[in-house]
Amino acid sequence: MGTLEQTLSTPLGVVEWFVYLLAAVMFVIGLHLMNSPKTARRGNLISAAGMVMACVMAFIVLFVGEAGNGFQHGIAVALLIAGIAIGAIVGVWSAKKVKMTDMPQLVSVFNTVGGGAAALVALNDILNSEEAAGPGIVVLITAGLGIMIGSVTFTGSLVAAGKLQGVKFLRKLTLPAKGVWNIAFIVLTIAAFVMLCVQPSNAVLWCILTTVFALAYGLVFVIPIGGADMPVVISVLNACTGTAVAMSGLAINNIALIVAGALVGAAGVTLSLAMSKAMNRPLMSVLAGGFGGGSDAAGSAEGPEGTMKETTADDVAVQLVYADKVIFVPGFGLAQAQAQRELADLGELLKGHGVEVEYAIHPVAGRMPGHMNVLLAEANVPYEELVDLDDINPQFPSANVALVVGANDVTNPAARRPGTPVSGMPILDVDKAQNVVVMKRGRGKGYAGIENELYFKDNTQMLFGDAKAGLQAVIAAVKELIN
Ligand code: NDP
Repeated sequence: MGTLEQTLSTPLGVVEWFVYLLAAVMFVIGLHLMNSPKTARRGNLISAAGMVMACVMAFIVLFVGEAGNGFQHGIAVALLIAGIAIGAIVGVWSAKKVKMTDMPQLVSVFNTVGGGAAALVALNDILNSEEAAGPGIVVLITAGLGIMIGSVTFTGSLVAAGKLQGVKFLRKLTLPAKGVWNIAFIVLTIAAFVMLCVQPSNAVLWCILTTVFALAYGLVFVIPIGGADMPVVISVLNACTGTAVAMSGLAINNIALIVAGALVGAAGVTLSLAMSKAMNRPLMSVLAGGFGGGSDAAGSAEGPEGTMKETTADDVAVQLVYADKVIFVPGFGLAQAQAQRELADLGELLKGHGVEVEYAIHPVAGRMPGHMNVLLAEANVPYEELVDLDDINPQFPSANVALVVGANDVTNPAARRPGTPVSGMPILDVDKAQNVVVMKRGRGKGYAGIENELYFKDNTQMLFGDAKAGLQAVIAAVKELIN
């Protein structure tokens, strides 16, 4: 793709430029509409329509605009058709088949593909430069950054997807002296990138080295990450995908790529800053490998002090019906059981009986940012009843019952002391409620892989079983009591 003047010198180029501009405007409008759950679906459709338009335009430009190069052109068109066909089939299949609970790993796979594609576009732009003296400095900087950030995103997101999928080998993999590896590969990647910019005559060598070092940094960056750091890393990788795409867009002078990438990058950076603040993890420390892991498995040798006490659905119903104030604490298990509607129904029943009900929302409950908000919005829980961590924590002591449904790490008091994989992470102060009921299937651990001290406290009772079946049993018992 040439410069802006070259693009605008033909009628097709002018149409192309305006179509990309329109697509970019549609991305912005779509993103704006995603601000509210009410308009999010429309926003998604508008953005998707913009993306389809941009893809069709790219196809027309290649098919009509650059025809005449004979065999090469034929191969390019064939590859494009094959790419669109494979992408469309995989996209439609994954959207239909992948369960809601597997969405986070699917998003990570999409980040992998996005980062890899951006790096390849940038690599192609440098390696196939038509300038006799090699690519100019602007292309070297933008495409070099595209290669660097895209490669980090490729390997980093691939490992993150495997960890989210629960691949045992990846979750157990550790890296001794992780900070050293991180800093070594950051320095090597930046050095290779600088050499690419100052010595374009050796562009092939420096491109290869930048790619290899950046791919290696992506691996050493994400392999040791676990527990409470994963959400921050995932949002950083998301920001990287957008930035890499924007850089590649700048390198090949494509306005749709620049705007789409900048939007994803800016949203990702905003989310990363919000996440690292919410999780009490300085962003720079996460990037340099200063966090991740923590060896003390919350009293791993003997387990936490105290014993777990089991309860029944009937007993839980009595506690709920006679309470003045109940706080629901949803977590990943709620999504896993797809029990959001049952939880909302229980809330409505109790409210109808005069009980004050609120939902405590932890920023990293579930497996993706905003997971609980999306889940509960789907069950039509009024937005005002979803209360953020800072606002709900002072309310736990006045709650007669805290009903924990499939939440684990975000309620673990082990976070309040050093040495555990969740240390430093702000938690929901569920243990401060007068009575705590925890609904989960058994003794399974949370994402961080450690025992939860909450379950052994004197004021905690366990209602074992699948959250959906458990809530249905509690609802039936509550109805019997009320009637
Ligand atoms: P956790 O992953 O800590 O715990 C979920 C609990 O749900 C498990 O202990 C499990 O216990 C229980 N569970 C699973 N299936 C069911 C079911 N069908 N019915 C009832 N219970 C069930 O969840 P939290 O939400 O508390 O914490 C989220 C964790 O994920 C944090 O560590 C966070 O750092 C991490 N994370 C979050 C991301 C984000 O962006 N939100 C991204 C990546 C990681 P059992 O097996 O006994 O039923």
